[in-house]
Amino acid sequence: MTNCLFCKIVAKEIPSAKVLENSDFLAFRDIDPKAPVHVLVIPKKHFEDIAELSKGDNVLTAGLMKFATEVAEIEKLEKGFRIVLNTGQDGGQSVQHVHAHVLGGRSLTWPPG
Ligand code: AMP
Repeated sequence: MTNCLFCKIVAKEIPSAKVLENSDFLAFRDIDPKAPVHVLVIPKKHFEDIAELSKGDNVLTAGLMKFATEVAEIEKLEKGFRIVLNTGQDGGQSVQHVHAHVLGGRSLTWPPG
């Protein structure tokens, strides 16, 4: 997608603070962190949201969770963490390229707003 912010991060047209990368996924630090650890995990291939991804690619759908969990391990979130996929307007999604937030490093409250 030519005008997608996260596709531009994948293409390195926009810089990011990389945490982990493989051929299918990229993890980088959120520019506006909501917790001491706040990492975004994205598939390099463009899908709008988790609904589109889960219909389009079973391997990448499962891989996204596995990769996000690996990020939590690398970030030493042994005490716990949260993986969030904001989806659509009511879900508060602001970037239309599917991404998982990996949040941790403090006690997280529930329910979210
Ligand atoms: P969401 O609101 O769930 O769509 O999440 C989008 C996230 O992308 C927000 O937490 C933003 O802070 C983050 N974000 C936006 N632009 C950048 C960027 N250039 N680098 C890293 N994170 C970004």
